[in-house]
Amino acid sequence: MIIENYKEVEKKVCEACSRAGRDRSEVTLIAVSKTKPVEMLKEAMMAGAEVFGENKVQELCEKYEVLPKNLHWHMIGHLQRNKVKYIVDKAELIHSVDSLRLAEEISKEAEKKKVQVSVLIEVNVAEEDSKFGVKVEDTENLIREIAQLPNVHIQGLMTIAPYVENAEENRPIFRTLKKLAVDIKMKNIDNVHMDVLSMGMTGDYEVAVEEGATMVRVGTGIFGERNYMK
Ligand SMILES: *Cc1c(COP(=O)(O)O)cnc(C)c1O
Repeated sequence: MIIENYKEVEKKVCEACSRAGRDRSEVTLIAVSKTKPVEMLKEAMMAGAEVFGENKVQELCEKYEVLPKNLHWHMIGHLQRNKVKYIVDKAELIHSVDSLRLAEEISKEAEKKKVQVSVLIEVNVAEEDSKFGVKVEDTENLIREIAQLPNVHIQGLMTIAPYVENAEENRPIFRTLKKLAVDIKMKNIDNVHMDVLSMGMTGDYEVAVEEGATMVRVGTGIFGERNYMK
């Protein structure tokens, strides 16, 4: 089932790219494997998945250890400062940086491990329920501060759109994030790239691709519903 699911999502990403006049290579499909066992990730790999998204440090580390080293791991969930040290050398991209204190910790641990860390700034565009993410109007200032840190490199922006019945409702949110990235890119801030836009999940990734997402994070659509109880 996972193989078929993955191929279906892949096809929809392709179709959304063509509708938007974009090349499929501009969009990375991240298979969000949180709570799912390693066997299921192996199935997704058979369908071609190479990039996995996790939201818990311990779970990312455990899967990282047992799966082949050619895979790419992205930390997409809220990150506590005391856990940073475990993933700076494992996560290829941290999507959820929303404070200077967190970025400072990443820089410090990166220094110890002699690595350079790529991050996205999480923006709370919808400004509802989620307590994570920086506000749109505070984003540029935060980026200017983080840009000064050694070992940390801002590659773009990420947002989590609300859960909606109709994906079209999230289109304005994706447009806002895209516009913010374009505005910030024009400022040419040293050590800041604005080429990555991580937006779109199972319910709305096609709309996100139409609006310029370069990374979509799809969990349920590939692995099925999550059961947090077990
Ligand atoms: C869980 C999660 C996803 C995937 O959500 P689905 O609706 O299952 O596709 C994407 N992004 C983040 C940050 C998540 O925590």
